[in-house]
Amino acid sequence: MAEMCTSNDLKMIIRLVKHDLRINAGPKHILEAVHPDAYQAFQMSRDLDAVLSKAVVRTADGHSSPTKKTALKITASLMTPVLPMLAEACKSVEYAMKKCPNGMYSEIKYDGERVQVHKKGSEFKYFSRSLKPVLPHKVNMFRDYIPQAFPYGTDLILDSEVLLVDVKTGKPLPFGSLGVHKKNSFEDANVCLFVFDCIYYNGEVLLEKPVKERRRILEQNMKEVPNRIMFSEIKEIHDPKDLENMITKVLKLGLEGLVLKDLMSTYEPGKRHWLKVKKDYLYGGAMADSADLVVLGAWFGTGQKGGMMSVFLMGCYNPTNQKWCTVTKVHTGHDDKTLERLQKELVMIKISKEASKVPDWLCCTKTMIPDFVAQDPKAMPVWEITGAEFTQHEVHTASGISIRFPRVTRIRDDKTWKTATSLPELKDLFKKSKENCDVSLPSTSGVKDVHKASDTESDNSSTSSPKKKFASSETSKGLSKSVRDPAVSGKRKPEVTSKESDKSTSSSNNEGTENDAEESPAKRRKKEHVHDIIKKPLPDVFVGVKLVLPPSVIEDRSELERYFIAYGGELLDTSQKEDSTHIIHVGDVTDGNEEARHVTLRWLWDSIKLQALQETRRYAVPFSGAGNP
Ligand code: AMP
Repeated sequence: MAEMCTSNDLKMIIRLVKHDLRINAGPKHILEAVHPDAYQAFQMSRDLDAVLSKAVVRTADGHSSPTKKTALKITASLMTPVLPMLAEACKSVEYAMKKCPNGMYSEIKYDGERVQVHKKGSEFKYFSRSLKPVLPHKVNMFRDYIPQAFPYGTDLILDSEVLLVDVKTGKPLPFGSLGVHKKNSFEDANVCLFVFDCIYYNGEVLLEKPVKERRRILEQNMKEVPNRIMFSEIKEIHDPKDLENMITKVLKLGLEGLVLKDLMSTYEPGKRHWLKVKKDYLYGGAMADSADLVVLGAWFGTGQKGGMMSVFLMGCYNPTNQKWCTVTKVHTGHDDKTLERLQKELVMIKISKEASKVPDWLCCTKTMIPDFVAQDPKAMPVWEITGAEFTQHEVHTASGISIRFPRVTRIRDDKTWKTATSLPELKDLFKKSKENCDVSLPSTSGVKDVHKASDTESDNSSTSSPKKKFASSETSKGLSKSVRDPAVSGKRKPEVTSKESDKSTSSSNNEGTENDAEESPAKRRKKEHVHDIIKKPLPDVFVGVKLVLPPSVIEDRSELERYFIAYGGELLDTSQKEDSTHIIHVGDVTDGNEEARHVTLRWLWDSIKLQALQETRRYAVPFSGAGNP
């Protein structure tokens, strides 16, 4: 055969073997050239033979010709994996409400591994998220339980998440516990399938049906086998308040988050049309967990970063035994230039993962012994490490506390090992992060309610509801120039860590403006409430700024209000307009109040966005939204 090939033929055969034809065209281009529906049909069925046999007909003279005129009707087929439907990151409750106009299912996001189960009579197949067969030890036992769960289900395709659950409590165990070795370290644990979708049932393809209908079919035909085959926990949501409550609840329980599905949405293979809510996606990442850790060691990178230190061992100081413990291993966050600079700047000793060479000051498990260790940890830089959440991980020696999906978010030149997060502080952050998951910022309806209430209530300071906390109708006397001009009031304060800010919140807030010195108890509580929620001190961009949002502002209204309040501003309703210079109108409200500052909606958004940027990049542009009213 090879003898008959030209050199080009041979080249293509080798490239075929390597799964890369290097023709700058993927399956989408090629299949769509064969038939306009062919790629979509392939996405659904992953069955190339079936797609091509329908898309191409043999002509009388033995040639193949595409059947472009007739629509292809290929859909999911049993025992051939269907591309899983995916989820997009959801950054706020408002975003979810906008993306799911028909109401939604809000489901627990199980932190295991995705499994697509195919059952054809007594034959079973299990496919992973990337459509590969799932390792048998994770799924083999289900052949006994699936027939119990689906007594009449001869043929099915289920979408589900597999994970270990504690049989005593029914609670899911941490991510990664499914691993074959780790399983033994969890007693009383079962591998359990949480079923969240059914896309084929007894000969009927359900892809085109809305999720509400698919769920109904699932619930009609499946009965739970406790701790083995369970329904995903689900709540139908139409009201943003209910969603807020559910997010707060799952985060408090230490669960990963939620998956949201518009009630009328069909199952779209490969499409990111569901939403996933996780702590670190919310409010521009303001709820993500972070700590200021010291660089204790490093490993060589691989690929392009081979031969250079590109993975770093981060840790904290334990004052009790005066040693250093490890918290996480981080390999993202630095750009190439910084990485290059770090090669020269970091003073390290090469120990090539040898246990005997680990210095006395470092408490480190065997798996975390790096290629290099710091010559002197007290002389090493401090980096802010941010991740999805604090986790417990036995390989780390900081009482097992670690950070999931870590990345370097700032080089803290302003900090030394003494002001970095210590072990007791890390324990405290860990504890607080689990307690502190309230995502509900004050809402629009709250403003209205409270304005009504404040007419009748003389003592605002005695209010306890968060809604009431920002309703104080303080007069504007005593506001300084810095307050009048948001550009000045938004001037960035020196950065402080959460630890420092906890101590200094009141003093730093009092700094600068007379207004701050007069902070009312109600206003202070409002701020504390928001600080509690976000956990980080929010810069006082809008302190002293009073805002009237005219009714014409409809789009993203409540999100805008939340941000504005979270950054220290005060919302007024139109009836509350005062004859003073300190009300900001948005849009084209010109009502003879010449002294008021008129700005555009765009200005407000820009201010918020720039501030968010400022938060994540140390040397980002200065806050300047007010420059372009
Ligand atoms: P992503 O894979 O990044 O699109 O995030 C969605 C992932 O969440 C899915 O791939 C599933 O593995 C996982 N997941 C966990 N619980 C659910 C659920 N109730 N519904 C849908 N997906 C879920």
